Amino acid sequence: MSMSKKLEAALNKQITTELSAAYGYLAMAAWCDMENLGGFAKWFKVQHHEEFEHAMKFYEHVLDRGGKVEFGKLDAPPAKYDSPKDVMKRALVMEQTNTKCITDLYELALKEGDVMAQPMLMWFINEQIEEEKSVSDIIALLEMAGDNKSALLMLNGKLGERAKS
Ligand code: MG
Repeated sequence: MSMSKKLEAALNKQITTELSAAYGYLAMAAWCDMENLGGFAKWFKVQHHEEFEHAMKFYEHVLDRGGKVEFGKLDAPPAKYDSPKDVMKRALVMEQTNTKCITDLYELALKEGDVMAQPMLMWFINEQIEEEKSVSDIIALLEMAGDNKSALLMLNGKLGERAKS
């Protein structure tokens, strides 16, 4: 079943949103690498890969449904951050914004009576719950660490253990 033009345009817009998140996470990784926080940088690089994979899921869906893939413009991501907590807080805002895009897409699929897009979008809704939770958990640990450098370094080590899923 082919998609409505409206849903096709919205799914294409989401490809750009996911790529923009990938770009944003890479900028966060670069900042952490420059601050000698290799563990944080590693964690953001894994996020970067995940966001690219998200873009590809939408890309494949559009093509599988006989649609046309169209890319949008990517703006340069922010390059300056105040602290590891600032980076994580901005990652959370980015995820919350993305969650809103995904839930809007799901509502559009319902409105357009597009049953075939719904399981894919439901996967993304569950993914967003996880993304927001994992970033929030790290912010909570950073709040706990406060100005304690040893605690920050311990967290840096822990985040560096994250493997690409
Ligand atoms: Mg994503």
